[in-house]
Amino acid sequence: MNGLEPCVHCGFCLQSCPTYLATGDEADSPRGRIVLMQGLARGNLNATDPPLVYHLDRCLGCLACEPACPSGVSYRVALESARSIIARSRPVPLIARAVNVVMADRRLLKPLMGSARLLRPLAGILAGESRLGFAFGMLRATRNRRSMHGPRPAQPKKSDSSPPVPPSADHSTPCAALFTGCIMDGLFAHVHLATQRTLQANGYSLARVQRQVCCGALHAHTGEHDKALQLARGNVAAFAAHPDCLIAVDSAGCGAMLKDYGRLLRNDPLSAEANALSERVRDVSELLVPQGPRVGQAVGLRVAYDPPCHLLHAQGISTAPLELLRSIPGIKMVHHADAATCCGSAGSYSLTELQLSRTVLSQKITALVAAEPDLVATGNPGCIMQIGAGLTAAGHDIPVIHPIEILDWSYDLAGFYDS
Ligand code: SF4
Ligand code: SF4
Repeated sequence: MNGLEPCVHCGFCLQSCPTYLATGDEADSPRGRIVLMQGLARGNLNATDPPLVYHLDRCLGCLACEPACPSGVSYRVALESARSIIARSRPVPLIARAVNVVMADRRLLKPLMGSARLLRPLAGILAGESRLGFAFGMLRATRNRRSMHGPRPAQPKKSDSSPPVPPSADHSTPCAALFTGCIMDGLFAHVHLATQRTLQANGYSLARVQRQVCCGALHAHTGEHDKALQLARGNVAAFAAHPDCLIAVDSAGCGAMLKDYGRLLRNDPLSAEANALSERVRDVSELLVPQGPRVGQAVGLRVAYDPPCHLLHAQGISTAPLELLRSIPGIKMVHHADAATCCGSAGSYSLTELQLSRTVLSQKITALVAAEPDLVATGNPGCIMQIGAGLTAAGHDIPVIHPIEILDWSYDLAGFYDS
């Protein structure tokens, strides 16, 4: 199977794997899963083989095993390919399929996200440890926490779903076009606004790209390869309207997927355009750090940074978010022992593999609580929701927010947004 040829079964990757650490089962380790995938590729196992399906379903796709491998195994390529083969023989689990359908269809996504926003004020009451309580904890974690830092709103707005700041037509400054995504657009509009304001404050002009769609990461990770290709083609066409703009992404999972479009569409008529798109994609921290970033007002917070797997392992971005946070006056970074390990969110994994997801999460919650931060910063919506719900379920009201929100608060306090 593509990507697995270099594996020499040394086992160096085992200690990096959250599911292996949680279960101690070799079949839940990268090496064990590689043996299963090689069996599938060689025809020794068929795509409905129960152990194969069971242990590949339990893989988070966190990719912590890739940088741990000295032989250069490309685990992500093999996993996607194996899941795609399995999905042709066995339907993708119902919950994951339902999530994939909704995220890919704006006609379903808009009312669902609207309903979620209406329910959000109740989420604090209903959040807890049970399956339903955890889901409300996830919804609670999507709140705009600006109010915890002073009474002044960052800018007047009607609601979380207010339209973004107007685009600038000035192309004498570097241009950035925001990738809006699905869940980010529906539940994290305040993060998008913070991203756009901080980019503008650091000299970027903004372009608004119409007809964007979900990045397709959830589809690719669950084996719905054809749907992922379809969504990728949609975004390639949409962003072709602004070929001179970098593509700003404030969701690590979406960023990793967009950067992979070149590989994903390598045999497609749009392959050249897909490569060009991938080369323009930047995490927001990658855009701001080279600009300084501009220094705002002190905020006085103890912050624990938790790197999303799809930023740290899939995109190899480790220092830029830390540099961004350290550029904010008054921030004290606090270390926590479980920072490099997955939180157990992994797209729809937290819904389909509830028990293992919660087991993986519990280590992180213990480490974060021990570090006693005022808040946790992480740059991915799934991680914000998973860690936020985990902290709430454990009885801790520690907000989990995107790093860019803290920079935005600092700029607001400094008066950068006063007209
Ligand atoms: S994936 Fe890499 S680290 Fe893991 S067993 Fe294979 S060669 Fe060793
Ligand atoms: S992707 Fe993550 S969960 Fe899956 S085998 Fe690699 S380290 Fe383990």
